[in-house]
Amino acid sequence: MIEYDFDLFVIGVGSGGVRAARMSAQYGARVATAEDKYMGGTCVNVGCIPKKLFVYASHFPEEYHHAQGFGWGPAEPSFDWQVLLDNKNQEIKRLNGVYQGLLDQAGVTHYDGRARIVDAHHVSINDQVVSTGKILVATGSWPSVPEFPGSEHVITSNEGFFLKTLPKKSLVVGGGYIAVEFAGIFQGLGVESHLSYRGPLFLRKFDRDVREVVRDELHKKGVHLHFDSHVERIEKHADDLFLVHFADGSQMETNLVLYATGRHPAVTDIGLENVNVDLRSNGAIIVDDEFRTSEPSIFALGDVTDKIQLTPVAIAEAMAFSATHFNNDPKVMDYDDIATAVFCQPNIGTVGMTEDEAREAYDEIEIYRSIFRPLKHTLSGSDEQYLMKIIVDKATDRLVGAHMVGSEAGEIIQGLAVAFKAGVTKSILDSTIGIHPTTAEEFVTMREPAS
Ligand code: NDP
Repeated sequence: MIEYDFDLFVIGVGSGGVRAARMSAQYGARVATAEDKYMGGTCVNVGCIPKKLFVYASHFPEEYHHAQGFGWGPAEPSFDWQVLLDNKNQEIKRLNGVYQGLLDQAGVTHYDGRARIVDAHHVSINDQVVSTGKILVATGSWPSVPEFPGSEHVITSNEGFFLKTLPKKSLVVGGGYIAVEFAGIFQGLGVESHLSYRGPLFLRKFDRDVREVVRDELHKKGVHLHFDSHVERIEKHADDLFLVHFADGSQMETNLVLYATGRHPAVTDIGLENVNVDLRSNGAIIVDDEFRTSEPSIFALGDVTDKIQLTPVAIAEAMAFSATHFNNDPKVMDYDDIATAVFCQPNIGTVGMTEDEAREAYDEIEIYRSIFRPLKHTLSGSDEQYLMKIIVDKATDRLVGAHMVGSEAGEIIQGLAVAFKAGVTKSILDSTIGIHPTTAEEFVTMREPAS
């Protein structure tokens, strides 16, 4: 038997990498990790966590306004971007320490530096080369910006979390998770917020009713939505002044352009050229059910495999990987009915199929839909509307999709996601007593199909 320095070398300490390292070490493996950016990866540093903190921050002006309908006097809130930035950075620093602590406690050896694969069993970090039984690539993903004249002037979400000052006016380009979340954050913080999307309606992969309600609600909040809109070139007139030229001949002056046009697998400069690891055309590492690449000692999971780019998916994959390879307990990932939330305002929560997908998949479906003004807004003065929608396969009575737009939609859908895993039927929802008065009770009180 060849004796390696480590049983497992994990490249990248994001959500998936840390969990895989920690679990494998707890199962008795000798584990090392390496990272040249930030402990905790995208989610902790430039993703889920700071984003949600910014979403909270951007929501307060609306709350001040709503409070007046409940008798609170008009407030003149003031906002200090630097305070938010400092407090956010402090919290991220704390989390970086928590992640480091988790690795230390599990007995993982951590290397600060860029790790590159030398061959199927060797990794270099800075000037050092170590040997390892298995290599796990958990390098995540990186924002992709298309190349066009002036594309060097745009920022991505990475930089959006560290802006020195808030712009007066912003243009976000894209129509997915990050675009709608950042457009809402900017709007809530008092920036004149514009969103440009190349198609007729954003959030292409979501249910059509969800997309339409979000469009209407963002519009009501004052976000300027530009659909069928194509940026052609950008001129820089000053450090914080840009002129954006669109394909239809129109122009927009703005203080910031943020591109949120997807994220590509982070596979450059990690030494993949030295081994036989097959990639998809977009660079994603191809793996089998056990996360093994075409090079038998090299594995990959999380965003770098571009299956479903969500933190909890990477974590679940990491746990399956560790159990399979270091605890003799083979686990296969179940990618069905993974719930997700978009923290635009109001939030989206969704699990299962969209109506269009369900119509393709089943002979006959029933749609239950409710669009309503939540109780709070009877006094707040807001005309915000919420959407709750469920899709049922008529033959089996099983729920095949549940969608919500409204406050705390992610919190509410999480419960329904559990029910989905248990095979919930419409009759079970009907026999569930609601909690009154809540928004969530609407999911168990919709009786008449809309179609
Ligand atoms: P998404 O894949 O969600 O959306 C990308 C958007 O950019 C789409 O609207 C797409 O349009 C558009 N686009 C792609 N290429 C171009 C181009 N060349 N020119 C103009 N527009 C383009 O990516 P995001 O960057 O928003 O987020 C990346 C991933 O990160 C998400 O898919 C999600 O998995 C994860 N994430 C999850 C969050 C959460 O859980 N709340 C939050 C943020 C990110 P089209 O639809 O027409 O293809």
